[in-house]
Amino acid sequence: MSAPPVLVIGGGVIGLTSAIRLLEAGRRVVVASDLPHAATTSAVAAGAWFPHAVGSDERVLAWGADTFTALAAEAAGPEAPVVMRDTLMLYHADPGPQWWAAAIPGGVRSAEPSVLPGGYSHGLRFTAPQALMPQYLPRLEERVRDLGGEIVRRHIASLDAACAEVPLVVNCSGLGAARLAGDASLVPIRGQIVRVANPGLTRSLRDEHHPLGRAYVHPRRDDCILGGTAEAGSWDLEPDPEIAASILRRCGDLAPELERAAVLEHRVGLRPGRPLVRLESERHGASGATLIHNYGHGGAGVTLSWGCASEVVRLATAGSER
Ligand SMILES: Cc1cc2nc3c(=O)[nH]c(=O)nc-3n(C[C@H](O)[C@H](O)[C@H](O)COP(=O)(O)OP(=O)(O)OC[C@H]3O[C@@H](n4cnc5c(N)ncnc54)[C@H](O)[C@@H]3O)c2cc1C
Repeated sequence: MSAPPVLVIGGGVIGLTSAIRLLEAGRRVVVASDLPHAATTSAVAAGAWFPHAVGSDERVLAWGADTFTALAAEAAGPEAPVVMRDTLMLYHADPGPQWWAAAIPGGVRSAEPSVLPGGYSHGLRFTAPQALMPQYLPRLEERVRDLGGEIVRRHIASLDAACAEVPLVVNCSGLGAARLAGDASLVPIRGQIVRVANPGLTRSLRDEHHPLGRAYVHPRRDDCILGGTAEAGSWDLEPDPEIAASILRRCGDLAPELERAAVLEHRVGLRPGRPLVRLESERHGASGATLIHNYGHGGAGVTLSWGCASEVVRLATAGSER
């Protein structure tokens, strides 16, 4: 008789990477997601490696470093769904050392004055992976299926019911965990973006302190993601035209060539914000099933995904040995 499957709740980047690592460890896995991948928060992400809005503890650094390595290994060939991206962070004063720099194998260096856009006096430069989400999420789904996993469209109404079905449940429901796990510390961090045609940019640009709000430009092969906002507590999924105009203005300060770029789409995503990622296991319900929580990755789900997925496998192994 074959072993009972693991139920992974969530088909965003966190659920899919967790499922892949569990399948690679020899588990049978069913992923249940109540949304298609294109409708998840993960699909809105710019996919750039950067630990934004996720706290800064030792675990975040270790997960980020693991994920950096895993994503970089996927960045091979012109069709790869991950690319290595030259990145420039912009400042008006010396930013000093950054806590996240330790996770970047090639290090972070001061930017040469010649690459700074007008008005900026300082910059930090590094190369980091960027997952191209419209290609990356389908590729992750393909890997789940190739490894023998199943992906089903299904709403999970309660963790009690899920834990009564199978001995191991992995809760990767993102913001859905606010209701599913009754977690009041999990809040939406609303992010609005503008997608424009790429006028020929190849470098990611960021100014976290622009007077109009955060500004970032993430070029992809055919388009650019321009952002953005980070409004904690807002559940509003409707793009706001005034915010969109402000995003276009601030990103134009970073790359003036964007002023001529055609606007392709306005989108909003709700980041699953939490003071710290919840990645831990517990015995749940009358059946004593092992329940592993892996949610609350804020603005860094892609950035931490593979490191967290490997930790899910460690917790699953410890759970079966108890
Ligand atoms: C504008 C924007 C830009 C971003 N840019 C970046 C970036 O550059 N780099 C980065 O690392 N991160 C970025 N992020 C953050 C990143 O998108 C999130 O951290 C990440 O998507 C969280 O992934 P997740 O799988 O936990 O959640 P989601 O992608 O939201 O997936 C949750 C899944 O759970 C399922 N689900 C929920 N409840 C249930 C239920 N009861 N039953 C069944 N299924 C359920 C949903 O259907 C979905 O499949 C960005 C976010 C936004 C909004």
